[in-house]
Amino acid sequence: MDDCLFCKIASKEIPGEIVYEDDNVIAIKDINPQAPIHLLLIPKEHYDSVLTVPAGNEIITQIHTVANRLALKFGIVDTGFRLVNNCGEDGGQTVLHLHYHLLGGRNLGWPPG
Ligand code: 5GP
Ligand code: ZN
Repeated sequence: MDDCLFCKIASKEIPGEIVYEDDNVIAIKDINPQAPIHLLLIPKEHYDSVLTVPAGNEIITQIHTVANRLALKFGIVDTGFRLVNNCGEDGGQTVLHLHYHLLGGRNLGWPPG
């Protein structure tokens, strides 16, 4: 996608603070963190949202695996963390490239506002 922020970050056209990368997934620090640990897990391939990931595609599983690894790396396994996908307007999605938020380092409360 030519004009997609996260495609540009994934291709290094725009800088991001990269904390993890493999062939399919990149993880960066959120520019406006909502918790002491706030990472964005982004597939390198563009999907508008979780709704447009084809059935059988492994990317969601891969993102969850990366989330577990990053939770370990950032020391939030014992205290707990939240893995969030915002989908659509009411879900709070502002960047129309599939991504998951990994949040931790404080008590996040529930339900969200
Ligand atoms: P959404 O609201 O779509 O679920 O999440 C988008 C997230 O991307 C927000 O938490 C926002 O702070 C983050 N974000 C927006 N622009 C940038 C950017 O240029 N760099 C980084 N690292 N994060 C961004
Ligand atoms: Zn994109």
